[in-house]
Amino acid sequence: MPDLRVLVLGGTTEGRALAGRMPVISSLAGRTSAPLLPPGEVRIGGFGGVDGLVRYLREALIDAVVDATHPFAAAMTDHAARACPAAGVPLLVLRRPGWTARPEDVWHRVPSLAAAADVVPALGERVFLTTGRQSIAAFAALDGCWFLSRSVGPPAPPVPRRLEVVLDRGPFSLEAERELLRTHRIDVLVTKDSGGATAKLEAARALRIPVVMVDRPPLPAGVPTAATVDEAVRWVGQLG
Ligand code: NAP
Repeated sequence: MPDLRVLVLGGTTEGRALAGRMPVISSLAGRTSAPLLPPGEVRIGGFGGVDGLVRYLREALIDAVVDATHPFAAAMTDHAARACPAAGVPLLVLRRPGWTARPEDVWHRVPSLAAAADVVPALGERVFLTTGRQSIAAFAALDGCWFLSRSVGPPAPPVPRRLEVVLDRGPFSLEAERELLRTHRIDVLVTKDSGGATAKLEAARALRIPVVMVDRPPLPAGVPTAATVDEAVRWVGQLG
């Protein structure tokens, strides 16, 4: 492995896995009070937009950046795609693949959280929201629905009038997901197309519960991408 200073934009399983494979500086946004810390050096907090990131890359003498942020962390990904060329630093986007529906699935693909909120009332009254605490506001006006929301941290207002919050962090087993859907008599599951662990989708399939699947924001044009941690390790390896 070449002796490079690699910055990993993290906050994901992939970011932590990459930090376990080679010495890197991991960056976290600092959103959660008890983050899962990757091994090795970690910095926490925003950079201050594109200009702040350019400054950081120069001052910290960064040789390469792997953007391993969550597929829905679009602002950070956009900033990295603009800052890295400005600082002359190579960038790779590491993105786990999205999910694909099986023939027996009933998925409604929508382009945004607002579009998800538009289709939910027609699909059922009892809604399981797994889109993260920052996404709940999009459903705040749906007084006709009851919501079960699961997130790592508590949601901030505005929230729906009829809301039960479960604070939990995955991974979740298929059996536990089925039990949760059954106990709360869930009619419809709302999720981002995050990719990765599929237990909630398998549970919805088994119980024939429709899924509202929010599509990923597009990736910046012209940036190389990797789908796995192995590919990202190889990309860094060929830089030296
Ligand atoms: P975002 O909307 O793309 O980013 C907003 C701002 O937060 C960025 O402009 C940047 O601030 C700061 N930021 C984001 N990721 C950062 C990182 N890894 N290191 C340093 N600063 C970062 O991001 P988000 O959706 O709020 O996600 C925040 C973090 O949570 C990310 O690390 C992401 O991987 C993780 N996460 C997000 C989701 C999700 O559904 N969005 C799910 C699981 C985990 P400055 O402009 O000041 O640099």
